[in-house]
Amino acid sequence: MLEAQKCSLCKERQPIYHRRYSGEWLCERCFKLSIIERVKRTISRYELLRYDDRIAVAVSGGKDSLSLLEILQRIERDFPHAKLFAVTIDEGIEGYRTECLAVAESFSRSLGIPFLSLSFKELFGFTLTEAAESKVLERLGINPCTVCGVFRRKALTIAARRLKATVIATAHTLDDVVQTYLLNLLKGEGNLKPVGLRREGEAVIPRIAPFRTTLQREVALYAYLRKIPFQVRTCPYTRTSMRDRVRSFLNWYAANRPEALYAFLNRFEQLLKDLEQPAESVCEICGEPTSRRICRACELEQLIKEGLKA
Ligand SMILES: [Zn+2]
Ligand SMILES: [Zn+2]
Repeated sequence: MLEAQKCSLCKERQPIYHRRYSGEWLCERCFKLSIIERVKRTISRYELLRYDDRIAVAVSGGKDSLSLLEILQRIERDFPHAKLFAVTIDEGIEGYRTECLAVAESFSRSLGIPFLSLSFKELFGFTLTEAAESKVLERLGINPCTVCGVFRRKALTIAARRLKATVIATAHTLDDVVQTYLLNLLKGEGNLKPVGLRREGEAVIPRIAPFRTTLQREVALYAYLRKIPFQVRTCPYTRTSMRDRVRSFLNWYAANRPEALYAFLNRFEQLLKDLEQPAESVCEICGEPTSRRICRACELEQLIKEGLKA
């Protein structure tokens, strides 16, 4: 009979996870430590954080973002000058967001992290449900997910400004970053930019993704092992988007070769470095960087408000 497999790191405990791309078998304790270590290494490799940052963590109430908050809080203990905040954006999706918000708030408070929640209603004058159920979006030919994405981004920036945050941390994983790169390539975006890396600009609060080299499934396992609460309801406006298709493709493609995602990330970002980044101008209304005169968020905000009044 074969000797029972032991954890590759501590050589003692029973493994619960086989990390295919490294060949390691990991016990629960070593697996959890390896995720925290990976986040630390990612932060230092890409210089994502400074010792005195005010970090606004975008928290949706999902397991990825709560895990990020929990891990950053562990890491932050070594940086007494840094400060963490949890930020949630309430899009006002009836029957869906309330639950996430409650989970996000109680989890943040249990970690002792200050919590700020802003809503679409107070910032823009409408909830996502109001916009989605009026005829405005149909008339404009845009779907609720686009509206949600554009305004969440804007709302997050506003929240970060209120907190005087110097950086915004999002829970995008390796899978998400690769998806975004592929999507931008498919859309033929002229302006290919690094995702989740610290890029400084005058009007910009940098957005970093400390999970950018962690596989989605490993974040999910971490959350499960830490018993991080998560909500199970899905957004009522979810449509099968191009992103979902790209995600399914990547899941299929990387199922037996997760190292392919790392190879793509590294190669693609090497290529991005050689690309000349066009100078960005800023939106005349909100001052955020944009390639146009008025940014997409400000443009949509006006259109929706006018549409709702009519
Ligand atoms: Zn171990
Ligand atoms: Zn704007």
